[in-house]
Amino acid sequence: MRQLTVFMLLVVLCACGGSKDEQTTSSESRLASTSIAEAKSSVDWALHGNDWGEQRHSKLDQINRDNVKELGLHWSFDMFTRRGVEATPLVIDGTMYVTSSWSIVYALDATNGSLKWSFDPKVDRAFLAKGCCDAVNRGVAFANGKVIVGAYDGRLIALNASDGSVAWDVQTTDREQSYTITGAPRIAGDKVIIGNGGAELGVRGYVTAYDIETGKQVWRFYTVPGNPADGFENETMEQAAKTWNGEWWKWGGGGTVWDAIVYEPELNLVYIGVGNGSPWNQRLRSPEGGDNLFLASIVALSADSGEYVWHYQTTPGETWDFTATQHIMLADLEIDGELRKVLMQAPKNGFFYVLDRVTGELISAEKFTEVNWASHVDMETGRPVETEGARVFDGKKQVVPSMGGGHNWPPMSYNPATGLVYIPTLRFPSAYLEPTDDIDTKPGQGLWNLGFNNMGMAPPPIPAKDVDAILDQQFNGQLLAWDPIKQQQVWVQEPGRPSLGGTLSTAGMLVFQPGKHGNLTAHDAETGAELWAHYTQTGAMAAPISYAVDGVQYIAVAVGFGGGFAAQGGAIAHHWKIPNRSRVLVYKLGGEHVLPDPEDVAERELPKPAAVTADAATVKHGQVIYQRHCAYCHGDGLRTGGITPDLRYSGEGIHAIWQDIVIGGVLSQVGMVGFKDYISADDAEAVRQYVLAEASRLYEEKQVGAAAQATPSE
Ligand code: CA
Repeated sequence: MRQLTVFMLLVVLCACGGSKDEQTTSSESRLASTSIAEAKSSVDWALHGNDWGEQRHSKLDQINRDNVKELGLHWSFDMFTRRGVEATPLVIDGTMYVTSSWSIVYALDATNGSLKWSFDPKVDRAFLAKGCCDAVNRGVAFANGKVIVGAYDGRLIALNASDGSVAWDVQTTDREQSYTITGAPRIAGDKVIIGNGGAELGVRGYVTAYDIETGKQVWRFYTVPGNPADGFENETMEQAAKTWNGEWWKWGGGGTVWDAIVYEPELNLVYIGVGNGSPWNQRLRSPEGGDNLFLASIVALSADSGEYVWHYQTTPGETWDFTATQHIMLADLEIDGELRKVLMQAPKNGFFYVLDRVTGELISAEKFTEVNWASHVDMETGRPVETEGARVFDGKKQVVPSMGGGHNWPPMSYNPATGLVYIPTLRFPSAYLEPTDDIDTKPGQGLWNLGFNNMGMAPPPIPAKDVDAILDQQFNGQLLAWDPIKQQQVWVQEPGRPSLGGTLSTAGMLVFQPGKHGNLTAHDAETGAELWAHYTQTGAMAAPISYAVDGVQYIAVAVGFGGGFAAQGGAIAHHWKIPNRSRVLVYKLGGEHVLPDPEDVAERELPKPAAVTADAATVKHGQVIYQRHCAYCHGDGLRTGGITPDLRYSGEGIHAIWQDIVIGGVLSQVGMVGFKDYISADDAEAVRQYVLAEASRLYEEKQVGAAAQATPSE
């Protein structure tokens, strides 16, 4: 402990060296105060995951199992945008710092929601085409009186916490390439660390550390090797290149670090979660196979230099979009009578991993959900044992977990009293299809290219009347309580759609999760029993937090649906019938704030579509083009997730200027960029014919449905 105390002292001294005012100093003492298992203070939520270990456990217990039924909404704040919301708010000294889509930052009075200042980095809306999953943002970092945000266009911007003025602003990426930032920066001593996204669009992943005071770059670590002809950045990349073959660098390689970055102050290590390959299909990326380091790996780096320390690869030869970007959580657990410093992750591939965070040794790995691509993890080799046919991509075989993962980025939480990790899981399958024509087999920077034929993702035609039942059955999520020592499920809540929200654990022995059927719910941490619910009027993906000001405990959550789930997985959200709103909701015992009346969410009337004028082959071609270029935002099979228009509902006005929109890009400033570099005018017209054909099919179904309803049954 002595070592830790000295460390703490150093951090406090460093932090106060350039200190400005009393308020800042008190925040810093809190930020620097404790070990990974400790919250910074019992009242603030000053780090992304609350404590350095990102356990997302609040020590506050004013709200508890006995009185949670008295929890009521206290204030709400409507953000300026209506796209997806993924942010974890921070609360420091009574001020909440939270972000919405387009990387807009809001500073709010944490007791009443009044806006102190806001900052809009004014990201060029055309950047939307450079990202996979909507212009979302997962929150800010706070240190030394600065609020630091990663902007969607690749900038890292430090704001003065007092008034939101810009302290420094650096471009962390090449704006010509398809890099975007959606993740929250993390503080590591006197540095701030940020990664990026874009592995679906042909980039090479890396993380960079910047000096908090000046914004000057300190180090950068690439996660995959570049072109050997250019020389390797370091010996680690030279070694990693031995696990690749072919001309992977032409494809970018991938391995983006778009979410999990965790700093371990005692060991002075930074753990990063590395994403999927670019393209997904390994046969194109690295034709002779190989592990392809450091894809789908957890990598430990020196916080001082960014040098490699150790790694563990969850999915060697990654080819299913099984990222290891998901929440990395640190804890000290007693395993076989020994207190181990562990690192835990439940990545997309469906296994729950417990590693020794000092050495990277695999302690255990078990399935936390249904998995059919691997039978188990071999504890001798530390490698997953793939099932026969795991790499057969015929467009029919249903792989679980899906490309969306058994667990995606919505954060987990851990309660030291129950010893349980609370995981928001996802349950649905994916099919993959080998490429059938040239466009999918050529590297192309800036273009969505998975190396698979996207028709594999096209959902089968489902009659409108059956959609709800089928989605309820096949596409849902659960709140799962997992014992990380025994590696087994302790309780699970009934599935709900889409139930995507992250979780919060509190010392009041409660677990909070938003998202299930539009509610924020509170559960008994020991049994899972639902003790309280509040209808939030929208979906949610982000995790709640808890904080206290002047002796009053609050629960806060940023609600709003969207992101990758709505953009790509429109089928999941489709027919969910809850509109997207972007709002901060804050609760306390006895809270009496009432949300404005929800807008009418009655089903829109479908205009009678014009007749299809193309032949069947052209309509089919339109579907192929749609799935390749349009489905990521407008939804597989034209089922939008609600943040982009459902094209089947396009009126005559839209059809009249179709070429101007799709080829000409006249709507690029609302995010619908032109596709003239990728498809022809004939392709665009074929897509329009496909949209008309599907609109007609839906229109007829609705007519039949309405007629059936008008006829009284026996
Ligand atoms: Ca991905």
